[in-house]
Amino acid sequence: MEAELKEMLNDLENLKRSLPDPSLHSSIDELQLRVQHLTDLAKSAPVRRSKVKDMSAEVVDSNPYSRLMALQRMGIVANYERIREFSVAIVGIGGVGSVAAEMLTRCGVGRLLLYDYDKVELANMNRLFFRPEQVGMTKTDAAVQTLSDINPDVVLEAINLMNSPNGVGSELDLSYTLNITTVEGFETFMCSLKNKTFRPEKEGNGVDLVLSCVDNYEARMVVNQACNELNQTWMESGVSEDAVSGHIQLLIPGETACFACVPPLVVASGVDERTLKREGVCAASLPTTMGVVAGLLVQNTLKYLLKFGHVSRYLGYNALKDYFPTMEMKPNPQCPNAACLERQKEYILAKPAREAEAKAKMEAEALPTTETPLHADNEWNISVVDDSLPEGSSSQSSDTLPQGLVHELPAAEEYKHASTVEQPASSADDLDELRRQLEALNAV
Ligand SMILES: [Zn+2]
Repeated sequence: MEAELKEMLNDLENLKRSLPDPSLHSSIDELQLRVQHLTDLAKSAPVRRSKVKDMSAEVVDSNPYSRLMALQRMGIVANYERIREFSVAIVGIGGVGSVAAEMLTRCGVGRLLLYDYDKVELANMNRLFFRPEQVGMTKTDAAVQTLSDINPDVVLEAINLMNSPNGVGSELDLSYTLNITTVEGFETFMCSLKNKTFRPEKEGNGVDLVLSCVDNYEARMVVNQACNELNQTWMESGVSEDAVSGHIQLLIPGETACFACVPPLVVASGVDERTLKREGVCAASLPTTMGVVAGLLVQNTLKYLLKFGHVSRYLGYNALKDYFPTMEMKPNPQCPNAACLERQKEYILAKPAREAEAKAKMEAEALPTTETPLHADNEWNISVVDDSLPEGSSSQSSDTLPQGLVHELPAAEEYKHASTVEQPASSADDLDELRRQLEALNAV
C-alpha cells in the first residue's frame, strides 16, 4: 500500500509539471498533501506478525513463546506446547471474559470460541480490553479484531447466528454473536461445543473446557444445562454487583456440585445473584476486581489443561479483606437437574475403575523412589529453626532454604557490618511474633 501511495505522489508531481497554467497547481498541491497524510497513516499501521508453525524454546527476542516455553525448562509444566491442542469456549465477553480471552490468546491456546450478544459501549471503558473506537461493534467482532492481531496462531472460531440459521458454522475467524438463553441460541451453543473440526481425533466434545463469564443467573443455568447434557467440564466465574468480591468454580458433571445442586455462592457480599442486572440498577464494576477474577480463572484453566499444581474447585476473592476462601462442593443427589443426576450415576458406577487406576498410578510412582523425603506430607518443606543451635550456625540456613524460597534482601552477614551483632534473644521473640501472625492468618 505504501508503494502505491508513493507512486501516486510521483504521478501527481508529474501532472503538476505538465500543466502550464500555475493556477491549477494549488488543487494538485492539496491532493498531494492528502496522499502524503495517507502514506503517514499507512506507515504507522500495526504490522501483524506471521504465524508460527511450532512453538520454540529458543531464547531470542523475536520468539513470542520463549517465556512460556521456559515454564517447561524450569520444570513447572511437563509439556507446554500441548496448549496448542486445546479448545476453550468463553461464554460472555465482558469485563472478565474479554480479559480471560486475551490471557489465553497470549498463552497461545489452540482455539478459542467466543460467545456474546452485546455490543461495545462507552460505559464499558472502565474495564480492560475494549477500546473507545470499538464502540458499536459486537463484543465478539471487536474481540476477534484485537485477539487476531495479538496472536494470529490462535484459531478464533465463531458463527454469527444471523448468518447461520442452521446453527452450524463453517467459517473460521468470525464470532458467536448469540443469546444462548433463547431456544435457537441454545441449539447453536450445543452444536458449537460438539463440533470437532479443530481436532477430529479428539475424544468427547469439541472443546476441552467451557468458561462461563456471564453476568446473570439465567445464562449460568443455560451453561450448566448444556455442560451437564454434554458431560463437559466447565468453570464458572462471577463478580459481585458491588464490584468488591468475586469467585471462580470448577464444575465436573457428576463429580462436583453442578450450578443447580446447591445455591450459587458469592463471597461476603450477600447479593442475590438473580438480582444482578436488575432493570434500572447500575451495577458497579472495577477493572481491578475483574482483572483479578479473570487471572484466577485463567490460572486455574492453565493448571487444569496443562496438568500442573493444584486445580481449585472453588476459590473466592474478597477485595475489602484480601481474603481468598476455598472449598469443595459435592453433587446433590436431589439435584433438580435430570442431566446432573445421570452424570452422578455414571460417576458412581465408574468408581471401582477409577480407584484401580489411581492405585496403579500410585504404585508406579512409588517404585522408582527409594529415598523418600523426611516429611512426605510437608509440601513446602517448612521447618522451624532450632533455638538451641549455637549462634552462627543459622548462617548455613541460606543454603537449606525450603524449596522455592529465596531471600529478597541481602544475606544477614551484610547487615551485621552495618548494625552491631546484638540481642541474640530477639530471634526467639521474632519466632513468637511469626507464630502469632500465622495463628491470626489461620483464624480468618
Ligand atoms: Zn446438579
